[in-house]
Amino acid sequence: MKFPFNDWLRRGITDFIYASASPIARHGILRPWLGEGIIFCYHRIQPRQSARYPFSDSWLSVNPAVFKTHLDELQTLFDVISVEEAISRLISQKREEQRPFYCITFDDGYRDNLEHALPILESLGAPATIFVTTWKNLPTPAVYRSWPELNSFTPPDASLFLTDSDVRQLSRHPLITIGAHTNSHYPLSSLSDRNAKLEITFPKEYLEQLTGLPVRHFSYPHGSSGTFGAREITYLAEAGYASAVAAIPSVLTKNSNVYALPRTLVLPHVTGKRIVVLASGMSNILGRSF
Ligand SMILES: [Zn+2]
Repeated sequence: MKFPFNDWLRRGITDFIYASASPIARHGILRPWLGEGIIFCYHRIQPRQSARYPFSDSWLSVNPAVFKTHLDELQTLFDVISVEEAISRLISQKREEQRPFYCITFDDGYRDNLEHALPILESLGAPATIFVTTWKNLPTPAVYRSWPELNSFTPPDASLFLTDSDVRQLSRHPLITIGAHTNSHYPLSSLSDRNAKLEITFPKEYLEQLTGLPVRHFSYPHGSSGTFGAREITYLAEAGYASAVAAIPSVLTKNSNVYALPRTLVLPHVTGKRIVVLASGMSNILGRSF
């Protein structure tokens, strides 16, 4: 849904929503439309804008100072909770008197999550989930050769990503949950049954062995509605995951499917004011241009 508002009108309405976000967010009667909360999807938190990685630097990177303004702005209006707690709140049948919530998630497992994001999370006591792509060769060469979709697999620049040691260190941090984001980052719907299942089970087993902790949450690579379906949800449940997040922007409600949780991508230009409007759930009603 998209309204043909002029920029000035959109700005005016954004200002109005921002100014009224507190009563909007607190008004329980609006929850069926505004939802119980929202999950934000970040990728990189880093200050650089280089030509070396034009896509990830310009589209997937939020400046640390901007990231901090997001958390600062949201702090007075919303609870910031883990994905685990969000699921507990969703499946709880009692009518919540709590404030609406938001969750912070990071996809892919970039090293700057540790360098730049973690200190900001620590300063505000904000929990976050990092969905790690394991980027390993498959367990055995025989399996690798039998996986035709991976013949064109090109490992990314390893220096951009968390090392195993980093992941182990982060997993022990009380604010951080490690989740899985497949091994090779293929859209799961493009894979054979066997390989889709392997992309779901392998990173779980690998990360559990690495960290000594259960890996209960999963993030679909690419994550739009065409990249996963009933097959993937069945495999996730069989593998023992408790939830999966997509990249379909919306709010979470008591009716949300825990294996297809909506999630809102935060782009670099999103200001502190706009993140409040997003978290309020009003963009769910007014359309994505808000
Ligand atoms: Zn990803």
